[in-house]
Amino acid sequence: MKKSRFIVVILCSILSLCLLAVVEIVWAMNSYNTMRQEYNSQIYRILEEASWQYAPRNEQGPITMGSIDRLSTIVADELRTAGLDTEYMVEVLVTTNDKPITLMMAQSGDIGTERMATEVKISPIILRLTVKDPHAEILSNMRLTLTLQIISIVVLTIAFVYLCMTLFRAKSVERIRRDLTHNITHELKTPIAAAYAATDVLRSTPDIADDKNLRNNYLDMALTELKRLEEMVEEILRSSTEEFEHSALHIEECNIGDMVRSAQESLTLKYRERNITWHINIEEHITLHADHFYLQAALGSLIDNAIKYSPDNPTVTIEATRDDRHVTIIVQDNGIGIPMGERKHIFEKFYRISHGNRHDTKGYGLGLYYVERVVKRHGGNIKCNSKVGHGSEFRINIPIYGKTHTHSRR
Ligand code: ADP
Repeated sequence: MKKSRFIVVILCSILSLCLLAVVEIVWAMNSYNTMRQEYNSQIYRILEEASWQYAPRNEQGPITMGSIDRLSTIVADELRTAGLDTEYMVEVLVTTNDKPITLMMAQSGDIGTERMATEVKISPIILRLTVKDPHAEILSNMRLTLTLQIISIVVLTIAFVYLCMTLFRAKSVERIRRDLTHNITHELKTPIAAAYAATDVLRSTPDIADDKNLRNNYLDMALTELKRLEEMVEEILRSSTEEFEHSALHIEECNIGDMVRSAQESLTLKYRERNITWHINIEEHITLHADHFYLQAALGSLIDNAIKYSPDNPTVTIEATRDDRHVTIIVQDNGIGIPMGERKHIFEKFYRISHGNRHDTKGYGLGLYYVERVVKRHGGNIKCNSKVGHGSEFRINIPIYGKTHTHSRR
């Protein structure tokens, strides 16, 4: 997907989410206000009804008042009939010198207090009914709807974030694939071209073919390049985890010291122009039950990285210890280190840290992915500690007796 289209999709989704949230909020506020108005008009009707029952008016003339307890009973009955279970206070007031004075009052559940004898004729009177603020009650009536609305917005937001993450991931996988194709093309083309050139020279220049030394030089060159090519293809094949994930592990007793020494030997040869200092500190006879082939390849990858990402004179320290249940293998280097933000990604498939447009550290971002898969399939874990400019440490922890015991790979 094009970047601009991607941004438009994300912005439209954010906008519609915001609109939805606004619509929900406006709807909730309107419902609240409607319910509040309905409540007020209900109270008003109750008061009117109570006033009719309590002090029936003649055409003209004074009003006959009953006791405040009677008024309170009328109000309570009316509230109950309207389905309003609320506390209330009812008052009878008269206006003297434009000032309202409370003659009698009663509260829900209380006996009324009266300043005047009942059955007094007086005119005009004011009835005042005070009820508890309905805010909490309205909110409690709206609770179910509000909760469902909030849940739907939260679910939509989570789905949206998930969608964005998936899209971002898809984009970065797309970018990584593009880089990988570019890398593979670049990496594979170089040895092919060199081997092709060497054999071509030998074929087309009889003088060189006749000179034993020169011929051997060209043959060596072609051989080295073909070997490089083979290594690359092998690495890609080995790292094709489809095969790894579906193949059973062949568990056997593996000696860590032997494996590390074997990796050290082949890597010393591979990096013969580098001045590697080795510190290997492995307790004697540390063994564990694992698939020798995969574990050897995983250790090789880790140690290879330790050299590959140490630009100057690499110092590689390898330690292995064991307790009753686990073997711990530490591979440490004094290389370029891994920035904090990158550490959580380095085990991802095809992930490579960008070191500028340099081709001096070759790879496909599959090494650590493969190492982690191997370690996890053996029931272990791998952790990375690193300091940029100082070096990195990879710590593998594997149960001695593993977790898979099948013998069908070879
Ligand atoms: P690659 O094939 O690129 O080496 P890996 O999966 O082995 O792929 O490593 C992923 C990335 O992690 C590398 O591109 C590199 O930047 C970083 N990395 C791995 N090991 C080390 C190390 N020992 N020191 C510094 N960086 C490392």
